[in-house]
Amino acid sequence: MNEFELIKRIFSQVQARYRLPDDVEKGIGDDASVMALPAGARLVSCIDTLVQGRHFSADWDEINKLAFQIGYKAVAVNVSDIAAMGATPHSILLALALPERLATETWLTNFAKGLFHACQLFDVTLIGGDTTRSENLVLSVSAQGLLAASTPAVYRSGAQVGDKVYVSGTLGDAAYALQHPNSSQGLELAHRLHMPTPRITLGAALTQIGATAMIDISDGLYQDLGHICEQSAVGMRIDLEQLPTSQPLASVDLSERLLCQLAGGDDYELAFTLPANIEPPIDSSNTPVTCIGEVIALSEADTVKGLPPKLFYQGQPVTPTHPNPFATWPTLTGYQHFAG
Ligand code: ADP
Ligand code: MG
Repeated sequence: MNEFELIKRIFSQVQARYRLPDDVEKGIGDDASVMALPAGARLVSCIDTLVQGRHFSADWDEINKLAFQIGYKAVAVNVSDIAAMGATPHSILLALALPERLATETWLTNFAKGLFHACQLFDVTLIGGDTTRSENLVLSVSAQGLLAASTPAVYRSGAQVGDKVYVSGTLGDAAYALQHPNSSQGLELAHRLHMPTPRITLGAALTQIGATAMIDISDGLYQDLGHICEQSAVGMRIDLEQLPTSQPLASVDLSERLLCQLAGGDDYELAFTLPANIEPPIDSSNTPVTCIGEVIALSEADTVKGLPPKLFYQGQPVTPTHPNPFATWPTLTGYQHFAG
């Protein structure tokens, strides 16, 4: 049996445990899938690629060990993008570039289990994909979500001066776990790196109550808030002592922790802005939400230099000349695939 037949068999075995929703008229098995859309619904689509050695370890032993988590995360990171629009995830497609050494019963079964576990948790259906052979493992997942007729999408571009800035969950956990995999905190936080929780119910609740801008934090808070600033043509004041911190990360050196929280990436939390008179929602998953600052007007100097958020610590601006609580002004731009 070749790897294509193997995948077909394993995927259909694992997927058979889950029910296909009624609106998927055709899933895996034809040239393309067909799904019915509710009247007036709008389709929200995205795609993300995970590359061996870049988004997960290059090491074959690690990849063998993490088959389930890799399958899970490929779904979770895409669902997170759909959630960040305020939409409800519906289905995914998977393009799998598979090295021969991973085309085994064991690896594919564990991978499929992680993938379908995530699909069940986030209520999405794998409706198709493509498989090729490759030297390295590369996973592209595209996700589709739906927005009801009357529900506005939440873009990066709507933040208004005076809005409050919020984030969900806690920040920096994944980055710390990546950098210190064998420390006690790193071990405690490994699930935050390998199995992030997309904030689906929160994203949907936020569009209902009038969030003005939203983004999922995949490249680091500072850089991702910068996208809201730029697209909304506003500035932000962020208070570092407000950044939500998990219990394991609270025992880490302050400047190292803040670096993970501002520039670490892989958080998959939602950052969003709300008018000051609107209380943040309590969604059905009880996602914790923390106010970390506010939207401020741009000064003329900002428009020349680009639009990063302004950081404050204990009421004082954190600047290259007064970097406290950092010893020296850090690089905060997070992950950039084509930098340098
Ligand atoms: P085609 O020749 O049209 O590219 P394929 O042989 O690649 O068809 O795929 C056959 C069916 O299996 C299609 O419905 C496709 O969506 C599905 N499929 C192939 N690879 C995957 C995969 N990695 N994950 C999910 N579905 C897949
Ligand atoms: Mg194909």
